[in-house]
Amino acid sequence: MADRAATDDPNAPPAAWHTLSWVEIEQMLQTGSAGLAEAEASRRLARYGPNRLAPPPRRGPLRRLLMQFHNILLYVMMAAAVVTAVLGHWIDTAVLLMAVVVNAVIGFIQEGKAEAALDAIRAMLSPHATVIRDGTRHEIDAADLVPGDRVLLASGDLVPADMRLAAVNELRVDEAALTGESLPVEKTAHESEPDAPLGDRYGMAYAGTLVVYGQASGIVVATASDTELGKINRMLSSIQGQATPLLRQVDRFGRLLALAILGLAAVTFLFGTLWRGHSPADMFMMVVALAASAIPEGLPAIMTVTLALGVQRMARRNAIVRRLPAVEALGSVTVICSDKTGTLTRNEMTVQRVVCADHVFEVDGTGYAPVGDLRFNDHIIDAGHYPALALAIRAGVLCNDAHLREKDGLWCVEGDPTEGALLVLGGKTGFTQVLGDASWPRLGVIPFESQHRFMATYHRDADDEAWIFAKGAPERILDMCTAELGHAGEQPLDVDYWRRMATDTAAQGLRLLALACKRAAPRDGSLCFADMEAGYVLLALVGIIDPPRDEAVRAVAECHRAGVRVKMITGDHAETARTIGARLDIGVGKPAITGAEMAMMDDAALRRVALEVDVFARASPEHKLRLVQALQANSQVVAMTGDGVNDAPALKSADVGVAMGMKGTEAAKEAADMVLADDNFATITAAVREGRAVYDNLKKFILFMLPTNGGEAMVVIAAILFELALPLAPAQVLWINMVTSSTLGLALAFEPAEPGIMRRRPRPPGVPLLSGFFVWRVLMVSILMMAGALGLFLWELDHGTSLETARTIAVNAVVAAEMFYLLNSRFLLASVLSPKGLTGNRYVLLAIAACILLQIAYTHAPAMQRIFGSTDLSPDEWGRVLAAGLLVFCVAEMEKAIIRRTRLAQRLGIA
Ligand code: ATP
Repeated sequence: MADRAATDDPNAPPAAWHTLSWVEIEQMLQTGSAGLAEAEASRRLARYGPNRLAPPPRRGPLRRLLMQFHNILLYVMMAAAVVTAVLGHWIDTAVLLMAVVVNAVIGFIQEGKAEAALDAIRAMLSPHATVIRDGTRHEIDAADLVPGDRVLLASGDLVPADMRLAAVNELRVDEAALTGESLPVEKTAHESEPDAPLGDRYGMAYAGTLVVYGQASGIVVATASDTELGKINRMLSSIQGQATPLLRQVDRFGRLLALAILGLAAVTFLFGTLWRGHSPADMFMMVVALAASAIPEGLPAIMTVTLALGVQRMARRNAIVRRLPAVEALGSVTVICSDKTGTLTRNEMTVQRVVCADHVFEVDGTGYAPVGDLRFNDHIIDAGHYPALALAIRAGVLCNDAHLREKDGLWCVEGDPTEGALLVLGGKTGFTQVLGDASWPRLGVIPFESQHRFMATYHRDADDEAWIFAKGAPERILDMCTAELGHAGEQPLDVDYWRRMATDTAAQGLRLLALACKRAAPRDGSLCFADMEAGYVLLALVGIIDPPRDEAVRAVAECHRAGVRVKMITGDHAETARTIGARLDIGVGKPAITGAEMAMMDDAALRRVALEVDVFARASPEHKLRLVQALQANSQVVAMTGDGVNDAPALKSADVGVAMGMKGTEAAKEAADMVLADDNFATITAAVREGRAVYDNLKKFILFMLPTNGGEAMVVIAAILFELALPLAPAQVLWINMVTSSTLGLALAFEPAEPGIMRRRPRPPGVPLLSGFFVWRVLMVSILMMAGALGLFLWELDHGTSLETARTIAVNAVVAAEMFYLLNSRFLLASVLSPKGLTGNRYVLLAIAACILLQIAYTHAPAMQRIFGSTDLSPDEWGRVLAAGLLVFCVAEMEKAIIRRTRLAQRLGIA
C-alpha cells in the first residue's frame, strides 16, 4: 500500500514509506537529527493542516430535532391532535401541537447542552508528543505535528502520527487498534518488503497504536487523515456517552411507567364513558391530557443533562471524565487507592542526603535551582575531594534522561523529577556539564520501568574506557553489587551497612536511589538485562525528599470524614512509604506490606489483608490489579490511580480508573475513566464530592418530577372517580404540563453539592433508586397537591364561584404547589428555610420567576383567557392559590424535619 507523499512537491509520486530507509526519508522530507526548524514546521502545519482526525459525522441539527419527536408520548399527543382536529376542537388541537413542539424543543436544547459540555471536555484530552525541533526537545500538542518532524517515543506513548522509525531501543508496540493483533509487535529501524502487510512493517509506527515497551525516535511521514488510522477513518475512543447504570434503570422505569399510565388512561376512558356517561370525545381529550401530564417524558433528557453538567463541573476542578458511568460510580466510591509520588506528594524532588561507604553527606537547598552546598559533619566540602561521592554524582548525571532548564530565573525539570533531582545535585557540585561532554558519550541504555526499578546506561570516557552506570531501588542495585567504593578505593560490599543506612534514610521519609557502576562493556556490544546481573561497585545511596502536598493532607482527612478509605500504593521503599503515609494520616498504626509479601499471598489471604492495610510499598502494576480485585471481592467500590502503561489493567478493572494527566502515559489515559489534569489527589476527592452531588441531583429531580406529575394526574382521576366537575379542562392540563414539566425541574441539574455531602457514608452500590422513601415522598406530595388543588376548587364552587374562576384557581394552585415544592426539592433532607436554602440556586429562582410570569399571563391576558377559558383572579383568590402552594411546602419541610430528627434517614439509606 502506498501512502501519499508528504514531500515538498505536491506532485511527487506516492511513497511507500516502509520500503525506504530512514536516511532516504530524511532526505525526502528535508529533515535531520536536529529535527525541523520551528519556522519550517509552521509552514508545513499551514500546508498539511493539524494532525487531528475529523470527529465522526454527527447527526445534523434538523435530524436531531426530528429525533425528539420519536417518543411514545409525543406520538400519542400527535395522534390526539389529529383526532381533535377531526372532531373540530381546534383549540385543543392547537394546544396539543404546541405541547408537542415545546417538548421537542426543550429536549433538543437539553441534548445540545449535554453534547456541548462533553465536546469541551473532549478537547481537554488532546494527546501530546515529544519532538526535536531546532535541535532541542519540546513537548507539543500532537495536533501540531507535521511530516518531517522528529518524534521521540517512550513506553506508554500513543504513537501520534505515522512514523518511519530511525533509532529503536527494544520498542514494542501494541497495534491492536489498527490490525487487531493483540500481542505487541517488536519494532526495528529496517525497511520492509513493498507488499508487507501493515502488521509486518517493522520499521514503521502507526498513529493510534500504543508503545508498551522501550524507546525510539522516528520521522513523521503522514499526519491526520493521511495516516493509516485516518484512512480507515476510525476515531480512537475518546469520551464516550454511554448510558450509566442509573440512566438505564431510570429509562426502563420511565418506559414501564408510561405503559402503566397509558393503561390507566384507557381504564379511565372506559370508566368515564361507560359508567359516568361522559361523552367519548370529552373523555378522549381528558385521558390524553391525563397521559400527557402523568408520563415523565422529560426524565431521560434531564438525567443526561444532569450528568453532563456534573462532568462539566468536575472538569472545572481538573477531573476530566472520559466515561459517563464513572460520574455515578464516583458517588459511591468506598476506597481510593492512590499512587504516592506526585499525587499525594508534590513531586518536587530534592536530594537531601548522599550516603557513601565511609561518609554521609547532607545537601543544602530546596527546589530545582542548582545552588546549595554539600556538607560533611556540618562543614562545607568540595565533592572533588571524595572519589566515591564524585563518581556517584557523575553516575547520577549520566544515567539520566531528564533536562534542567532555566526560564525567567525559574529552574524547572523536563522529564522524571527523580532524575531532575540528580541533575540539580550535579549542578550544585559543578558536574552537570559533563552531560553534554562528548568525552562520555552514551552508547546504550536500559530505560527505567517500574517493574524492574532501575535504569542503566553504557558510556565511554575520554580514554575510551567502557562504563556501565546503574541507578535504582537499593534492593535491586545491591543485588548486582559485589563491592563498594570507599574513600581509599574499592572494598568488599558491607550489605548490612547499606541496609541499615537505607532503612535509616527511608524512615526520614526520603525516597531512595542507589547508584553503582561497572567498568566493562556490555557482553554482546549492546546493553541488555544480562549485563545487569553482577560485578557492580556500589557508589552511594541517595535520599530524596518529596514532601506531601498540603491539599492532599486536607483531602485525605475529608475522605476519612466521608467514610472513604484511602490506600497508598507506591513503588517506594516500605519505610519511606510508611513515614510519608503517617504525615498524610494514611495507615497510621497499621503495618505496611510490600509487593513481595503480596506476591506470596493467595487471593483469599490478600482479600483479608486488603481491607486492613493502607500502605502498600514496592508495589508493581500487577499488584495493583490484584489489590483492586481483592477489594472488589470485599464489596468495595474502588477508585485506583495509575500513570504507567502497565497500570492499564488495574485502571480498567477498577470501578473508577484514574489516570494522571501530566505525568501519565497515553496508555493509562486510554484505559482510565477519569483523567486528573493536575495529578493531584485532592482532585479525586473533589470529583467524589461532585459525583455524590450529581447522584443527589438525579434523585432530587426524580423526587420533584414524579409527585408533580402524579399530583396533576390524581386531580383528574379523583374528579372522574367521584363524579365531580372536572377541576382542570384538558387544554389546561396540557398547559400546566407545558409550563412546569422539564422547565422547573431542569433547574435542579444546576444544584451545587449540599454542605454536609462529604460527611455522609458512601452510597451503598446497587441500592435501587426507588426505595420505600421514594414511594412515600412521591405519594405524599402527589396527595398534597391533589388535596390543595381539588380542595380549593371544590371550596370555590361551594362558595358560589363560577366554574371558570374555580378552574383558573385550580390551575394556579397546581403550578404554585410545584413551584414551592421545587424549593423543597433543593435539599433531600436538609431544611431549605435559610437564605442559602431559599436563594442558593439562581436557576431555581429564574425558573420560578418565569413560571410566575407565565401564570400571570395565563390568568390575566385576554388572548389566554380566550384560549384556555381562564378568568381574572382577585387578590384574595391569589392569596388562596398561594396558601395551597404553601401547604405543600410546609408539610414537605415538616416531613424532612421528622425524618432528620428520628434518624429514619440512615435506616432508609438516604443519608
Ligand atoms: P508511585 O507509584 O507512588 O508513583 P514511585 O514513583 O515511587 O511510586 P516508581 O516510579 O515505580 O514508584 O519507583 C520505584 C523505585 O524505583 C523508587 O523508589 C526508586 O528507588 C526507583 N526509581 C524511581 N525512578 C527512577 C529512575 N528514573 N531511575 C532509576 N530508579 C528509579
